[in-house]
Amino acid sequence: MTLKLRCEDYGFECQFEIDEEISVNTIEKLQKHFEEEHGIDYTVEAVKQMIQNRGHSLDSIKK
Ligand SMILES: [Zn+2]
Repeated sequence: MTLKLRCEDYGFECQFEIDEEISVNTIEKLQKHFEEEHGIDYTVEAVKQMIQNRGHSLDSIKK
């Protein structure tokens, strides 16, 4: 399942977007982005929650 997520959708003025198969790497990429670009330290759980809120199941996450 492909995740499409834009920073803009979360109220950031930011062009960052993700459009890829969800994997552990996706979560790390999002965490890194939020921390480096926005100074927000989201936990893995928080990021997973964001993804789930987009209607994605985390069962499909590939290791
Ligand atoms: Zn951003």
